[in-house]
Amino acid sequence: MDRKQLLRDVLAGHRLTEGEALSLMLVKDRGVLDICSAADEIREVRAGDTVTYVRNQNIHVSNICKNLCGFCGFGRRAGDEGAFLDDEETVRRKARLAAERQVTEICLLSGVHPDFTLDSYLDILRWTAEEAPGVHIHAFSPDEVAHASARSGVSTVEVLEQMKEAGMFSLQGTAAEILVDEVRAVICPRKIDTATWVRIIQQAHGAGIPTTATIMYGSYEGERERIRHLSILRDIQDRTGGFTEMIPLTYIHTNTPLYRQGIARPGATGREDLLMIAISRLFLDNFRNIQVSWGKLGTKLSQLALLSGANDLAGTMFSDDVSADAGAADAEFLDPEIMKRITADIKRPLCQRYTDYSLVSTG
Ligand code: SF4
Repeated sequence: MDRKQLLRDVLAGHRLTEGEALSLMLVKDRGVLDICSAADEIREVRAGDTVTYVRNQNIHVSNICKNLCGFCGFGRRAGDEGAFLDDEETVRRKARLAAERQVTEICLLSGVHPDFTLDSYLDILRWTAEEAPGVHIHAFSPDEVAHASARSGVSTVEVLEQMKEAGMFSLQGTAAEILVDEVRAVICPRKIDTATWVRIIQQAHGAGIPTTATIMYGSYEGERERIRHLSILRDIQDRTGGFTEMIPLTYIHTNTPLYRQGIARPGATGREDLLMIAISRLFLDNFRNIQVSWGKLGTKLSQLALLSGANDLAGTMFSDDVSADAGAADAEFLDPEIMKRITADIKRPLCQRYTDYSLVSTG
């Protein structure tokens, strides 16, 4: 296959097949830069030049988790050193602190606590909404929706509707990892399977709850599984249009069981990271937004990702124990002034956005 012609075809509107995308994912020479450049051209057309970010804060309510995924350094068993579970007052205090920092989004990002029921999730939403009124609550994952459903004996649709009523504006598209069951059986065997993830995401979109889309790559899967995953996301987006953005999450290996056991590689390389961003842009022709996760890639590679198809720098965060516990350096907070330096250096404007990608007026 003539790669340059393929990229020209994509720029002219051709929808990549899985086989074509796989051939791009396998490129190891300077052709990588051609792929990134084509993705950057498409970014310009689809999302414009402005780089966006959201002023947000993660709230981790607990790191106690029933899943104990092999790629994760955050989840603990109850009673393990460092295990925690916040009480009501602590959740309220964290939400108040977020509101004082003038965030527009709070992400509720925790372990899947084995004892949580639907009521536990609804309480957390209500406490957060009461302390941070008007702040968009981006919460939970399809795996937590399935857990609440199983623990409380109600359907996943009912769980989603009750969560929405309690203050959840959008659902995290996490727990996707790699949407290939043979890979999930190795990296996250206790999580919901691919079909359940797809079903719950589509139910959320059907209930008017937008979600993000994610991929956690660089651990055990190969290029073929990454493309399969992208294809599943593209198909869902064709059906529902409910994804707000694609977020490639590179595997942070350092403190994770899968790496210690010699099952996972020590993460993706820089080439793979840039190709993941670029091919997400090229393949996902029905997504407007491709996000860079600076907490995992670091600011220098993130800047190059902005030249490879990405248009969003994620959030200020203030706290990302999930990346930090897995061994990521500097995953806590990114000052918008540093974002401005990165984007000004590539002659792109930076603008604060809301969760739905509407821009925050500075006037
Ligand atoms: S990735 Fe999520 S579900 Fe898996 S162990 Fe970590 S916190 Fe638990």
